[in-house]
Amino acid sequence: MTCIFCQILARELPGEILYEDEDLGVIRDVNPEAPVHLLIIPKRHFDSMNSLDEKTAQIAAKMFLAAKKMAEAHGIQSGYKVLINNGMGAGQQVRHLHMHLMGGWERRQGRR
Ligand code: 5GP
Ligand code: ZN
Repeated sequence: MTCIFCQILARELPGEILYEDEDLGVIRDVNPEAPVHLLIIPKRHFDSMNSLDEKTAQIAAKMFLAAKKMAEAHGIQSGYKVLINNGMGAGQQVRHLHMHLMGGWERRQGRR
């Protein structure tokens, strides 16, 4: 059985894909913890960072670059956070490697 993020990126489950390229897709977090809360998800299934090795670690660089581009696209480049939970002990709920991109607090307070 494929996981929920594999299914969303394969369009087997509903989910607005904000951006995608050959390596990854970006969706909004269904339960946002910031005014802008996106998930940057490799198309290839990795359970977590623990599954990466020298051959596959390039996906991590691509995730960081995608986060930067999405922060610009969503107007939060002046302040954003990225987070990757790895393993149950860190609260990882979805066992498919993904990066949280969170920001937009200033914008909501009208300080921009
Ligand atoms: P984790 O705790 O694994 O780092 O983060 C998983 C995130 O995925 C959570 O913030 C949760 O709200 C989000 N999430 C879980 N299921 C879905 C879903 O079906 N669609 C979307 N867009 N986000 C989801
Ligand atoms: Zn998956």
